Amino acid sequence: MLSTQKDSLQSHNASNISSKPLFYELEFSNRFHSLGNDFFSVQEPDGLENPELVHINPSAAQLLDYSADSLNNSKFCYFAAGHLIPENCQPVAAIYAGHQFGHFVPQLGDGRALLLGEIKNSAAQYWEIQLKGVGATPYSRQGDGRAVLRSTIREYLCSEAMYGLGIPTTRALAIVNSQEKVWREQLESGAALVRLSPSFIRFGSFELFASRSQTDKVQQLADFVIQHYYPDILKQSNNKQINPYQLFLSSVIEKTALMIAHWQAVGFAHGVMNTDNMSVLGLTLDYGPFGFLDTYQRDFICNHSDHQGRYSFQKQPGIALWNLTRFAETLLSLMTIDEAKQALAAFEAQFTDHYLSLMEQKLGFFQSAGNNEEAQERSTLVLSLLNLMEKNQVDYSLLFRRLSGSIIAEPRPAIRDMFLDRETFDNWHQHYIRLLDKDSLPERQRREKMNRINPKYILRNYMAQIAIDKATHDNDYSEVDKLLKLMLNPFDEHPQMEHYAGLPPDWATEISVSCSS
Ligand code: AMP
Ligand code: MG
Repeated sequence: MLSTQKDSLQSHNASNISSKPLFYELEFSNRFHSLGNDFFSVQEPDGLENPELVHINPSAAQLLDYSADSLNNSKFCYFAAGHLIPENCQPVAAIYAGHQFGHFVPQLGDGRALLLGEIKNSAAQYWEIQLKGVGATPYSRQGDGRAVLRSTIREYLCSEAMYGLGIPTTRALAIVNSQEKVWREQLESGAALVRLSPSFIRFGSFELFASRSQTDKVQQLADFVIQHYYPDILKQSNNKQINPYQLFLSSVIEKTALMIAHWQAVGFAHGVMNTDNMSVLGLTLDYGPFGFLDTYQRDFICNHSDHQGRYSFQKQPGIALWNLTRFAETLLSLMTIDEAKQALAAFEAQFTDHYLSLMEQKLGFFQSAGNNEEAQERSTLVLSLLNLMEKNQVDYSLLFRRLSGSIIAEPRPAIRDMFLDRETFDNWHQHYIRLLDKDSLPERQRREKMNRINPKYILRNYMAQIAIDKATHDNDYSEVDKLLKLMLNPFDEHPQMEHYAGLPPDWATEISVSCSS
């Protein structure tokens, strides 16, 4: 009985999918267009030479009610490569400004990404579709408008890894490679990434108009984002008699605090937290030289070009607040300085609360602390573990995953032996057990929950590098395929992929990632 039901459900889905129009025939909308041409430039793509559709992500395809199979055709390939523009699409490059490494750049914009439009799915969600790497725009400056295969694979895998980890992010639908030759430090293949997001509007989009004193445009953009992406604000502001723009600022602050708390808890470094790479929806955006921590190292710098360490791992929360402050400044025509300050003042507590809550869950505390003293003890426990990990150069993800799998009362040697200073670790561990004992969750349940927050697999640089090497040298995308599946389910066991669950190999330390992509 059950299996018949399942079969009929599957055939229903399949017929739904096969009866859908080909992708390029879809009805595209483009609400971003309604803002008017001060917000973008219309730009035809410069299609990639001899494109080859090399990977489609089934999980992102589903967001548009497609299966990967139904997109696996030459029409979609030509669409993704910038050759086949659907009739109702008008590709645009958005204009924005931004603080890059602390310095204000009055005009930036999509230099190599085009927004084609958006698709409303069966759940009534809109997904904007961007092609990244399909040619120069008025905002390309010295750039060629291209993206190389290497960085396209990295963004593809990492956006999906973040999604798999439950971290707010833009999504990646497909990769096309091509015979287009692109010069970076050497000749490389030009590729394009099809990426999806509810919106790609950035802090920098607001900075552009504010810096030109175009306060009407700032307001128009704020109204647009509120109407389409924060619709609750209007109701709230009516009910509570609060300035809707202050609520908007507060919402962006809270979403950003949550995103950064996730980054810090999972050990992710973005690498280029310029304000033009900060989404007003609190989504991880514009993957360049990102990196996940191997050993816990607070001052980890993933971007080889970041000589000062402005965007080092530990600085991310502070930089987020700095960026939010630049964002708040753009809204000063819509609120008082006090209103802006009041909204910004919430960031630190919001970040710390989210972060500590995630870290406590990583250690197995799923019930709130009984009292203040216990809460204090828990945060001390977290911080002392981080100190210990840093001193002993312990692998961040591996330690937490091993803790999740162990009987807490007696740490396996596999955990204890990760520390050189075992005596200090034993003391920490005793303290840990004492605190955990106060939490009444049954052991088995706790371990299951811990295994859902401590990933077994993270996208370490060397893994992406293996996939890139196979793709670029052998035109072999099997590793991209394997890693994508793995990263979409990073908490599960994957016996065939066990080799990716351990410490990185020695050669991993030699990989260097810079902004050049
Ligand atoms: P990023 O920090 O990588 O997000 O890029 C900063 C700015 O440079 C953005 O406006 C990009 O569109 C632009 N950009 C980066 N690479 C290129 C390129 N190869 N061609 C044109 N514009 C680019
Ligand atoms: Mg960018």
